[in-house]
Amino acid sequence: MNIASDPKSLLSPEANLAAAHAAATGILTIDLDAIVANWRKLEKTAVPAECAGVVKANAYGCGAEQVARALANAGCKTFFVATLDEGRVVRAAVPESATIYVLDGFFQNSGEAYAAINCRPVIGELNELAEWDVFCRRSGWTGGCAIHIDTGMSRLGLTVAEAQGIIPRINAGDHGITLVMSHLVSAELLNNPVNAKQLAAFREIQSLFSGVPAALANSSGIFLGPQFQFDLVRPGAALYGINPTPEADNPMQPVVELKARIVQIRNIERGETVGYGGTWSARRPTRLAIVSAGYADGYFRAASASDGTRGAEVIVSGKRCPIAGRVSMDLMAVDVTDLEKTAARRGHMVTLIGEGITIDELAHHFGTIGYEVLTSLGRRFARVYKGGDAKVEPPALAASDAPATESAPGAATPPPVHSESASADKA
Ligand SMILES: *Cc1c(COP(=O)(O)O)cnc(C)c1O
Repeated sequence: MNIASDPKSLLSPEANLAAAHAAATGILTIDLDAIVANWRKLEKTAVPAECAGVVKANAYGCGAEQVARALANAGCKTFFVATLDEGRVVRAAVPESATIYVLDGFFQNSGEAYAAINCRPVIGELNELAEWDVFCRRSGWTGGCAIHIDTGMSRLGLTVAEAQGIIPRINAGDHGITLVMSHLVSAELLNNPVNAKQLAAFREIQSLFSGVPAALANSSGIFLGPQFQFDLVRPGAALYGINPTPEADNPMQPVVELKARIVQIRNIERGETVGYGGTWSARRPTRLAIVSAGYADGYFRAASASDGTRGAEVIVSGKRCPIAGRVSMDLMAVDVTDLEKTAARRGHMVTLIGEGITIDELAHHFGTIGYEVLTSLGRRFARVYKGGDAKVEPPALAASDAPATESAPGAATPPPVHSESASADKA
């Protein structure tokens, strides 16, 4: 239950939210203004092409409703989601005039659902197209669909030969196809020859779909140059601050900040080990901060440290400190021996993402990509939205019976309810 909206609560909604955040073991801050700024930058880079917003997977974990609304307010007119359920969420958040494409496409019984929420399937197979045509003919639905052409991904899409087979239909007019698209395999690597190969294949087929808008580029594809941008570009990752040009500096603004609470400070002797498996041992008398985030929160166990390997770092009172031992389900230990005693106290918040720790840096420690870091971010964190028409939300789980914690002297204050002062929360 959401305590902020608990009608039985004696507290005001603001006080409830403050209590939820005082009790939260972690706070995920999502900067909607940064997402909008990133979208504007991509739009400028791709102009005259239209810039869509890819908001699948709950907007890469950032909140589909909030992100779609903020993007729509900024002028974004076309959205991509993966599933119909995601389409439903986005449809409720954006104007009726906005176009929503569903990447996973059409199934025989999903026609009514598409029509009910005015979404368009991205069709990647001839049988699927035939079924969609049947639905449209029987129901009179004229909402349109996209055709996905496979130019090298071998995932979804008609083969180039299959696509050529439907050219007569395009030439006959009134075909109900509102977009022809393909997807790049390796756009983040500027010099990978597969980019030029896919571009050539897509160009050829797109030129035959006369009058139908075309789209090829994801975030990284936009940075491959104007010839990749066609009529519409489909950035996802770059909106959320992931570097679309990993071979160069990140042109995007950071969007996500993640803090978690120190739940205990403890001192151990030289030679004592830390965490499951005892893989990390103290080389000196060591002060540990036990922090309330673990792999169940999307902080991967791969970021663990052992005697042989350094793990990821977290920021405590402005200083980078290394993880000690294995990251466990709900907790991790951080070596704060080098800090002043007052700099790490029970109740303080530490920074896991932000203050220079990027999603891409964490992805490196997690042995994955920023996309997986973002979409794994846990549901136990309280979420704070900055900017846009920001609204503060308590954690999805377990906030209801969590009392406000007693703050230790110098403990972090609960984050403010309003966006303007959200950055004041520095532990
Ligand atoms: C996810 C996806 C995108 C967005 O890709 P990013 O790399 O996140 O920008 C674009 N097009 C399709 C078909 C996708 O599946």
